[in-house]
Parts: sequence; structure tokens; C-alpha cells
Amino acid sequence: MSRSFRDPSVDAGRVEAGLRTLAGVVEPDRPGWTRTALGPVDREGRETVRRWMVDAGLETTLDGAGNVVGRLRGTGSGRSLMVGSHTDTVVGGGRFDGIVGVVGAIETVRALQEAGVRLAHDLVVVDFFNEEPNEFGLSCVGSRAMAGELTTHHLGLSDDHGRTLADALGAVGIDASALLGARYDFSGVDAFVELHIEQGPYLEQHGSQIGLVESITGISRFRALFQGRADHAGTTPMDVRHDAGCAAAGTVLAVERIGSGGDRTKGTSGQVTFTPAATNVVTAHAEFRGEFRGPEAEWLHHAQDRLTAAAQEEGGSRGVQVEVDWLPLQEPAPMDESVVGTLAAVVDGLGLSSSRLFSGAEHDAAVIARQVPAGMLFVPSRDGRSHCPEEWTDLDDITAGITALTQALVALDQRGRR
Ligand SMILES: [Zn+2]
Repeated sequence: MSRSFRDPSVDAGRVEAGLRTLAGVVEPDRPGWTRTALGPVDREGRETVRRWMVDAGLETTLDGAGNVVGRLRGTGSGRSLMVGSHTDTVVGGGRFDGIVGVVGAIETVRALQEAGVRLAHDLVVVDFFNEEPNEFGLSCVGSRAMAGELTTHHLGLSDDHGRTLADALGAVGIDASALLGARYDFSGVDAFVELHIEQGPYLEQHGSQIGLVESITGISRFRALFQGRADHAGTTPMDVRHDAGCAAAGTVLAVERIGSGGDRTKGTSGQVTFTPAATNVVTAHAEFRGEFRGPEAEWLHHAQDRLTAAAQEEGGSRGVQVEVDWLPLQEPAPMDESVVGTLAAVVDGLGLSSSRLFSGAEHDAAVIARQVPAGMLFVPSRDGRSHCPEEWTDLDDITAGITALTQALVALDQRGRR
């Protein structure tokens, strides 16, 4: 590959400063580094990102879904390449999940500009709104809005206090109808690449600096509700109770059993509530949320059927009414083989060691992959830890990932011109 410009070089100090700045925009009185999308400080986080994009020379907008979208004009006819990730976190999360991909994408723009490299493609950088599952059970809200996948059904989802997603969005300045109208025109986009931390131990165990994602897990989430009857805990015989808590507990164990049954499959429960919350009253109402993950859609459909049947059985034997509400299934997302091949060649060319792997974590790239050819670059997570304050990736590894991302965009740009 002949080049008439210097190789773009990534400024590690600038990357570290960016990570540190966002680590300072967190919710007070919450553990770790918490910046939930529907919480009080996420807007400030995205405003910080917006200013960085403007400073880096991007034409920047905040779309109707809360996504920060910046565009660096190319020299060509308006075809574009897209990069990005998210800056919201889980409660008690870390400083790297998603953030590395956003800080890294902006650093890529700066590195290209400073090296005097002009791509033929426009380069579109996105900080996707609300990637992490919110209290309504919905994740990847911003990317799904861009992909046109959200409907009024999603806006009507309710949390445990009966508040709707539309209300919660309104409270953080996002108008529900604007969100539904935030569809992005992907017809001019030739490829999408997301840089992200691995969030698991595979790269560390294999001594690899870069992960090349081959596919992203499918996910099926649900909310299970159990309606029994409140009774005196001391006087009501065990065999005549309608204990909603026991039906829920049996169903939680069914999630574990089903999730343990396949290759790379997972089943997890959370947010369990018993009402009334008292040990001297038989539980009248119980509910919890859960999810299954796996690399095959067929298995996920099968898991849905088995879990619904198990919940009905747990409820039926106790005279407890059961309802299992499934969110729309997120299909497993294979990455584009030709984009992955380009990423692999770039990583090899930089002399970085790499592994191909499957992502058990969901990402905005899974949503965008349904619109355009997509690929992901992973950098190692220390001890495989993530979604916790201990989450850590060395700056050298982050810098290597951003360098690979930068070179990958140059390669994808040239590929598009052939
Ligand atoms: Zn993430």
C-alpha cells in the first residue's frame, strides 16, 4: 500500500485524558463509575463528547434519539464509513465499557487530521444513546432508533413503578416521537467498525492484543409476573397456599437449567421482587426479569418455549397466575466476513497478535450489522472483569486498538475506491 502521508499516530496522553474526564462525570452516591442513560448525568457526558467532536473538526448533531453524531467530510462523493460505541454505563460499572470506543473514534479523527490524511469517505462518529439495558428492559436504544427498529410498543414499556419509557425519555430531554423519527439513512454507509473492551478473559488467556469478533450473541429478554394470594404465614397450611414467591423462585432455577444446556448459551435472572415484602405473609405477587443468550436464534426460540412452559408449571401447581412477557428477540449478529478480513490484515500489518472470537456481550454493532457490513475490534480486559468498578484495560492496549481502528478506516476507505 503506497501512502503519500505520514502514518497517523495516536496520542496516548490525549486518550487517557478523555477517559479520565468521562470518569469524572458520574452519578453521586452510586457505586463505581455510574452514568446510566436515563439518570441525571448522562446528558452531561454526551455533551462532553459533543464538544470533543466539534473540537476535532466534526460537523456534529444530537439526533432525536439522543445519539451524538459527528461527520468529518471526505474528498469523495459522500459515501461514508461509520465508527462509534456508547458512553452510558451500568450501575456500578467501569471506566472503559463503550467509552474506549467513543474516545478512540474521536482520537482516530484527530490522528488522521494531524497526519494530513483525507479519506475519500465521510467518517461518521457516533456516541450511541443508552446501549446498556435500562430499567424498562430495553438496550441499544439509540442504535435501534437509528436502524428504525423501535416502535410505540417499546415506548409503552413500563418499569416497576408503572412509569413508561416515553416518560423516562422525556425526563432526560428526549421526545418520544422524535426518537421514532430518528431513523438514519444507511444507504450511503459502506462499513461500520466498533472498538470495545472484550469484557471477558479470552484475549488475556490467549495472550492476544486484539480480538476480531466473528459474531455477537443473540438475546431474548423477558419479564415474568406471578399473581398468587396473600395469607397468614402462621395459620395457612402449606398445601393450600398460592405462594407467588415460590412459583417465581422455581422459574428462576429453570432459567439457570435451560441456560446451562447449550454450547455458549447463558441464562440469567435479576430484579426479583416479592410483594408484600414480609416473612410473615405468604407472597401475593412476585416478578423478575431474565434473559437468555446464545449464538443461534433457533436455540433462543426453544429456550423461550421451555421457560414459558416451566413458569406455567411452577404457577399451575400452586394456583398462581403466570404471565411471561417476551421482548422482541435480538437475533445473533454475524460480522461481515470481508470487514473482519480487512481488520485482520491491518492488525497483522501492525504486528499485533490477535484472536478471532464470539462476543457473549451485546453491542451496538449487532444492531448496525443489520444495516451495513460491520466488524468489531476488542482490546483485553484485565482478569476478564467488566460491569464492575474493577474493570480495567491497559492504556497500551487501548492505544494499540485505536491505532488498528485508524488503519482499518484507511484500508476500508481504499477498498471502497477500488
Ligand atoms: Zn459496551
